[in-house]
Amino acid sequence: MAQIIDGKAISQAIKDEVKAAVEKLNKDGIEIALAVIQVGDDPASAVYVNNKKKACAYVGIRSLAYELPEKTSEEELLALVQKLNEDPSCNGILVQLPLPSHIREDVIINAIAPSKDVDGFHPANVGSMLIGQPGFLSCTPAGIIQLLKRSNISIAGKECVVIGRSNIVGKPMAALLLRENGTVTVCHSKTQNLKEVCKRADILVVAIGKPKMITADYVKEGAVVIDVGIHRMDNKKLCGDVDYDSVFPICSAITPVPGGVGPMTIAMLMYNCVLSGKENSAI
Ligand code: NAD
Repeated sequence: MAQIIDGKAISQAIKDEVKAAVEKLNKDGIEIALAVIQVGDDPASAVYVNNKKKACAYVGIRSLAYELPEKTSEEELLALVQKLNEDPSCNGILVQLPLPSHIREDVIINAIAPSKDVDGFHPANVGSMLIGQPGFLSCTPAGIIQLLKRSNISIAGKECVVIGRSNIVGKPMAALLLRENGTVTVCHSKTQNLKEVCKRADILVVAIGKPKMITADYVKEGAVVIDVGIHRMDNKKLCGDVDYDSVFPICSAITPVPGGVGPMTIAMLMYNCVLSGKENSAI
């Protein structure tokens, strides 16, 4: 029977570790604060921002909420980011994506001080990750590494196939699996013979953004399957990029949707905030 990788339990354990670390920092007189900036009132973004604030409250991180109107200009947002960069009481800056189309996301991400870029999206942090230097790791792929490690699934020497090459999931995922000594292949929309390539995988990470696309005929018997996708179906239930019911009987371990990768992203964000607190306080 396949092991169901419990992202809810693992993310809770990480949040409890972060909570203990925050308490210790507080005792030393150090407070951790995360600025969460949302521009516009996209309902999905509002849900994500709210979940981040709730997680902050749970672990003892102060959240500084900036809810800006849709018509906020790029200059105004840049000015806020600059102000927070210079504010020693703010450890982390998170700009909720996507931004309205008149604001360039890359300009905003590049303006965040790398030492406060708790999302791990700044080119300096992406570069540090690639060459194995300290820095913030992108939260979703870092969370997947934690899911694997804490489920006693070894990565070293394994054939790892990542489907998807986005900047926030696929590419950093491939880099982190390589860093853990996996043998990594990245597939994308132009990949030929996708099924054959996927069938080589001991560890298959799926981040395509297409509901239930990966069925049993993409998966090798005994593989570990990590489903990053998240979609709301017509019946209001959530599903992933993997067709769970068909893949479950042949894999050795799998993440469910919901309750797999999803909760890990926020847990790793909290972890990054504590790292940031330590770094900025020169502990
Ligand atoms: P994206 O749309 O930016 O990237 C999708 C990738 O899939 C692209 O690189 C593309 O080349 C590849 N792709 C598309 N069609 C393909 C096909 N037919 N065959 C092979 N490759 C194909 O998406 P993303 O931001 O990386 O997110 C992927 C999924 O993960 C989405 O469902 C998203 O909602 C979800 N997501 C979840 C979390 C989380 O915290 N659980 C975080 C980020 C993204």
